[in-house]
Amino acid sequence: MSIAIHWFRRDLRLTDNTALNAAVAAHDAVVPVYILSEWRGEHGWTGAPRQEFLCGCLASLTRNLEAKGGRLIIRQGKADVVLRELAQETGASAIYFNRDPDPYGREMQAKVARLGVDIHAHGDVAMHERNEVMTAGATPYRVFSPYARAWSKLDKRAPGRAVARLTTPLTVPGLPLPTLATWGLKSSAQVLESGEAAARKRLAQFLEGPIFQYAERRDAPGINGSSRLSQDLRHGTLSIREIYARCVEAGEKATREGKRGVSMFINELIWREFYMQVLWHWPEVLDVEFQEDYRGMPWTKNEAALERWRAGRTGFPIVDAGMRQLAATGWMHNRVRMIVAMFLTKDLHLDWRAGESWFMQNLVDGEIASNNGGWQWSASTGTDAAPYFRIQNPWSQTKRFDPEGEFIRRWIPELRDVPGAKFCEPPAPGLSLARDYPAPMVDHHAERDRALEMYRLVNV
Ligand code: FAD
Repeated sequence: MSIAIHWFRRDLRLTDNTALNAAVAAHDAVVPVYILSEWRGEHGWTGAPRQEFLCGCLASLTRNLEAKGGRLIIRQGKADVVLRELAQETGASAIYFNRDPDPYGREMQAKVARLGVDIHAHGDVAMHERNEVMTAGATPYRVFSPYARAWSKLDKRAPGRAVARLTTPLTVPGLPLPTLATWGLKSSAQVLESGEAAARKRLAQFLEGPIFQYAERRDAPGINGSSRLSQDLRHGTLSIREIYARCVEAGEKATREGKRGVSMFINELIWREFYMQVLWHWPEVLDVEFQEDYRGMPWTKNEAALERWRAGRTGFPIVDAGMRQLAATGWMHNRVRMIVAMFLTKDLHLDWRAGESWFMQNLVDGEIASNNGGWQWSASTGTDAAPYFRIQNPWSQTKRFDPEGEFIRRWIPELRDVPGAKFCEPPAPGLSLARDYPAPMVDHHAERDRALEMYRLVNV
């Protein structure tokens, strides 16, 4: 009997799972394993919301595998060590997995490749991987628009099937399903329901209507205009091929306006892959600014200011509402992510890395490539980033995207009785908008000038 291991990573589904389908097709029995990290606070890039979502995904995957005759084996430790032991215990002759674009995942899969077992690594996480979308000169793209044009021209793989039947040898022992206590964490946010079925329901709801109005509604944080699929893409409870194919299908039946929504949504999926390929080709962006000119910026060190930003107590309602939405749900609206990130770097002059790690700790969709890309975009240090002199004003951003203050009032109960217009310009110096709510901690115009000076000086 030929036995293979399928190493589940960020592909927690049975439908259109490239490596899993290949393993099932080629072997009599498959040992599906998920390897828990031994993280105990060594680095600040992990936190309760994403781990809680992961626990739910693993519980759902366990049930789904059992329904097909299989069994999810949970182990904990270093992947290469665990997989070597598991291969010896089970007599597995091959290990299957889907490739990870992150430097840490790549380092681990390189170690696994040296185990001396037959390795089958598949492309799955992105529609187009590392070297598939290249310039005519065979170099990676640094600018999004030509990348997106080249991406769009390539043939797209259709989604594969769902696993119909899978046999796991009964004797393989494993750990119980993890809980937050596995990593010494406590629940801190109300995260969305996890698992393949919940993800598919979210996709179906989005395709039923919101996708067609995505172009007009995606930027308003007060309404549910976006797909809320980021945590599903992050954990692989849906495949990118399935999402893409369903969007194209929806676009075919849509009106002209509706088609605009669909194509704008697909454009966002391309941003995800653009940032993945940036990380693939320039993994150093996790340590330094993509643009060399901006390395070694004189960022301010101010722990108290950072703490006010984290707690949503800056006195800038749109910033505070976003930070509180993040704390309460593990998710923040994209427009507001941009506002809070620009506020941290351009108004408080704090190092974008502090924000990047806070987001990684708190986001249920925390994705190394997109998060780094978003932060470096906002700090104007990244590839194809916002130019440093185009600094968003939090007050006028509120006027454009939350003019009635619907979003702000939802997340800041102290401001429940304040009319929307008051959130669109700063209160008189030293005054706050309500009792128990702080006055703005800085003057945006003065800090904007300081930021311009700081960037100009390093950019001479
Ligand atoms: P939708 O608008 O419905 O978009 C659909 C999908 O496209 C998203 O689920 C996501 O996978 C992708 N996408 C959308 N916008 C972007 C973008 N700007 N960059 C890359 N991919 C995108 N996204 C993450 O998935 N993880 C992160 O850790 C993350 N950190 C961010 C940090 C900052 C500072 C900024 C400005 C943006 C960040 N984003 C991140 C991108 C974006 O904010 C989220 O993907 C989006 O808000 C998720 O909500 P949604 O699924 O409803 O998005």
